This record gives sequence, C-alpha cells and structure tokens, in this order.
Amino acid sequence: MRNLDREALISCLEDDSPEVAAALYSEAYRVKKETVGENVYLRGLVEISNICRKNCLYCGIRRDNLNTGRYELTSEEVLEAAAFAAEQGYGSMVIQGGERTDRKFIDKITSLLVEIKSRWPLGITLSLGEQTEDVYREWFEAGAHRYLLRIESSTRELYEKIHPVDAVHSYETRVQALRDLRKCGYQVGTGVMIGLPFQTAANLADDLLFFKEMDIDMCGMGPYLVHSETPLYACRHLIPDLERRLDLSLRMVALLRLLMPDINIAATTAMQAIAPDGRERAILAGANVLMPNLTLSEVREDYQIYQNKPGVGEDAAISSSRTEQRLREMKIPIGYGQWGDSRHYRKR
Ligand code: SAH
Ligand code: SF4
Repeated sequence: MRNLDREALISCLEDDSPEVAAALYSEAYRVKKETVGENVYLRGLVEISNICRKNCLYCGIRRDNLNTGRYELTSEEVLEAAAFAAEQGYGSMVIQGGERTDRKFIDKITSLLVEIKSRWPLGITLSLGEQTEDVYREWFEAGAHRYLLRIESSTRELYEKIHPVDAVHSYETRVQALRDLRKCGYQVGTGVMIGLPFQTAANLADDLLFFKEMDIDMCGMGPYLVHSETPLYACRHLIPDLERRLDLSLRMVALLRLLMPDINIAATTAMQAIAPDGRERAILAGANVLMPNLTLSEVREDYQIYQNKPGVGEDAAISSSRTEQRLREMKIPIGYGQWGDSRHYRKR
C-alpha cells in the first residue's frame, strides 16, 4: 500500500482529477474485498425523535429552530420498525435521534433495547448524542453494542466555529465521550461532515489521522448540506459546490479504507442527497455498510437535519426495497441475517 502520511492525504484531497479519484476508489475497493469481504451490511435506521437539547450551528433540528414540528415515536412504532428490519433479514438496526438526557427518555431506550433483544436476533446501534458514562453502560447492558457519535471535525478551532462555545457543546466532552463508549465495551463509530465552511484539506487529513489514532471501529461521514433555518446558512458562499463535496466525501471513504482496512464504513444518506447513486458510489469506493431508512413516513419531514433529505414521502418498504434493488443491479452481495460487526473490533 502507498505511504499515506499527512502530506499524501492532503494532496489526494486537494487533487480534483477524475483519473486519480478512479484509481483511488478501485484500490480501496480491492482492499475492502480482501479484508472485510464484498458484502454490504444493511442496518434499518429509525429516527426516534427530533427533540434536541443542542444548538449545533449546522443542524436543522437544533433546539432554537422553532419552525419545525417536534415528534417522538412511540415504543410500539419503534418495535414495528424493528420487526420490519428482522423480517427483511437485516442483521441490525440503528436508533438515532436528537440529544436528550431526561430520565424518561433514557428509560424508554433501555426498555426498548430489552424488548427488541428479547424478540429478535438484531444487533443494535445507538446514535443518541452525548450521555453520561452510566447511561452508556445502562444501554450497553440492555443490549446495544455499537454507538455512533461523530466528532464532526477533529480540529478544535473548526469544531468551535460550527458549534456554540459553551459547556453543552464542548470539544473535550465530545472526545471524552468516545473514550467512555470504548470503556463500556461498545464498538465505537465516529465521523465528520465534509465540505464545511472554513474546512481545509489539511483539516480533513487530520480527521482521517484522528480516526486512526482513536482506533475507531466504524465510521460514518458525509457531505455537509445546508439548512436555511440554521446560523451556518449565512456561510454558504464559503463551501465547495455539491459535486465537489460528494467527490471529497468519496475520497475520504477510500482513503479511510486504505488507512484502516478492517473497520466498517457507512455509505451515508447525505451522499444520496447530492446524487441518487451517491451511496452506491461510496460502496464502490470502499464503504461496506448502508442504512435504509425505516422511520415512519408521517414524521420523516420533521427529521430534516439538512434540507432536501432523500426519502421524505417514502415509507420503510419503499426505502428499503429501492436500496436493495439498486445493490442487486450493481451485483453487490448483501450480508442478510448477519450482524456484520467490525472486524477491527473483533481483533482487538
Ligand atoms: N444528535 C445525535 C445524532 C443525530 S444527528 C448527534 O448529533 O450525535 C446525526 C448527524 O447528522 C450528526 O452527527 C451530523 O454529523 C449530521 N448532520 C447534522 N446536520 C447536518 C447537515 N446540515 N449536513 C450534513 N450532516 C448533518
Ligand atoms: Fe442535536 Fe445532533 Fe442536530 Fe446537534 S447534530 S443539533 S446534537 S440532532
């Protein structure tokens, strides 16, 4: 494998030639096939609630956006999605939502985990923001075994430009949360947004090196997409165009596959928001996990972390059959009925 030091990463990210990109993707795909295999693993995604205590400057469901309806799915609705995931033969599901730290919500997640694990052999990933170590442990003991918490940007100065600077949005707390999750036994996933205002190729290279240094098990990253009801919208003239943001995201996926060959890397919905085949292109650039949206169609419109999110107006059956159909057309094998855990984690 080529020597991927910081300089090499930066030059790969600064480059914009399609030939260089194509060579990079095919090398990453080959490495993926040799290490984690050709299978793509599907995780049914349930967006449980868009209520959030945070005010991230980029996010459409931030606390201060009063122009969105707020919802919380009932436990029955989440269980229906779990049943659907199990019936489809997905090995796993992901429960994602705004950050909430009230006891009622924590208890609801705990009971849901116990209930789902008692009914179906699903692996469960949580993505519910920063919690105390005790809460991470409680959820782990109730049956969750993976957790996604993006660092958003590993460069502190950039992190502080895209978040309010206060105790609830502290960079240190975010990094510590990743350590706490590891301590509790989770497979730990993180990631960043790509094409943010003020972000340089060097920042992105440092993100890749951060993943390596933190020895993460999973990664989900994707292009930053604007939302007009957020403060960062005012900086939209500072970001690369959509095509370039997708191109950079695919390069990041491929470079990470070369840097960390045996981790799980997601092809994210934000890539699909730029190009209908964005997620499939990420798979051909080295990603091996895809998360069909199983959120109830009635509330999808309200979980718009960015505008023009794909799948609004679809229900679980449509989103998942479209996803599976596309993979079949591309002759990409799906790991039905398997958890598809990170090999990196198992080795550790
Ligand atoms: N509240 C949890 C999980 C839900 S948000 C958390 O923040 O960890 C999940 C991810 O959506 C965030 O990590 C962020 O990277 C992404 N996101 C938010 N706003 C976005 C935007 N405008 N464009 C692209 N991704 C966005
Ligand atoms: Fe809340 Fe997550 Fe959006 Fe931040 S990114 S405002 S924590 S949902």
